[in-house]
Amino acid sequence: MKILVKVALSSLVVLGLTTTGLSAKTYKLKMAMSWKKTTPILAATALRAAELADEMSDGRLKIRVDGAEKHKAPFGIFDFVKQGLYDIGHTASYYYKGKDFKMVFFTTVPFGMTPNEQYSWYYEGGGKELAQKVYEKHGLLTFMGGNTGIQMGGWFKKEIKHLDDLKGLKFRIPGLGGEVMAKLGVNAVNIAPGELYMSLELGTIDAVEWVSPYFDTKLGLHKIAPFYYTAWQEPASELQFIINEKKFKKLPNDLQVILKSAFKVATFEMMQKANYQNALTWAKIKQDYPNIKVKTFSKEIIDALKVATKEIFDKEAKKDSLFKEILESQREYQKKAEAWTEISDKVYLQTR
Ligand code: CA
Repeated sequence: MKILVKVALSSLVVLGLTTTGLSAKTYKLKMAMSWKKTTPILAATALRAAELADEMSDGRLKIRVDGAEKHKAPFGIFDFVKQGLYDIGHTASYYYKGKDFKMVFFTTVPFGMTPNEQYSWYYEGGGKELAQKVYEKHGLLTFMGGNTGIQMGGWFKKEIKHLDDLKGLKFRIPGLGGEVMAKLGVNAVNIAPGELYMSLELGTIDAVEWVSPYFDTKLGLHKIAPFYYTAWQEPASELQFIINEKKFKKLPNDLQVILKSAFKVATFEMMQKANYQNALTWAKIKQDYPNIKVKTFSKEIIDALKVATKEIFDKEAKKDSLFKEILESQREYQKKAEAWTEISDKVYLQTR
């Protein structure tokens, strides 16, 4: 008996009973998130996946979820999972574009697909196979992890009318959007979410791109910068669940299916939450802060942003054949999706 207990503890396997009375192992995994445990919607998605896995497996699959306040490395999730320090990660692929630029395709790209279009491409149009090609080199499996829905272009203290207004503008805009803006002369910087309000208030920065009404107003950005620009840079920001492939393969088949299903359900639920909260928040903000002006960048600026985006992509495609393959796959599907949207959603939205 003593030996049995020792063996069970050393392998972190606990003996239990299933509802059918058969002895079954309980598998324990650890998940690290890029967000704090209290971050609404984003953290809730990871916690929901863990809860579902537990329920669907009748307690045989337990996932401990750690937030950034515990592991202290919001952008270190990729390495945590690759190195096996954590089994699962909940993060955003484009945080790792410095490791591999192809990672951006699985979050969102400027002037890219809408969330629905992106889901269609990912699940039906070869997207998930291409994502796996990128991640398998690192011994990782990747799954979609929830979408914020379309992201706004950011909060600006001053109105941006012409291309010249962007020159030297200190703008917190990370990722590819920041690189594109930099090509137009913007001083693009990345600042941690916790410091955004203060930086904007003190004038360290002139503008902030974060997410959308629900997320942005939680930081109070609307109280300082009254010009709220519409989207171009992150039309469909998708998070990711990543899992260490070796750890995943150690799970019995039914638990593998349960884990994948838990990811998918939590992913589905996230965008409903984000859309719902954005609508509610926007209705309230419009009432409480009537001075806020919603603006769209001029055609001159949008055209320049499109040219800069294309230049960055085409340059990278020349260096990396898999990058080129993914870029072409997205462009080809997006063209078809746009033609369909043109006669369906777009026309319908103009009727109401
Ligand atoms: Ca953003």
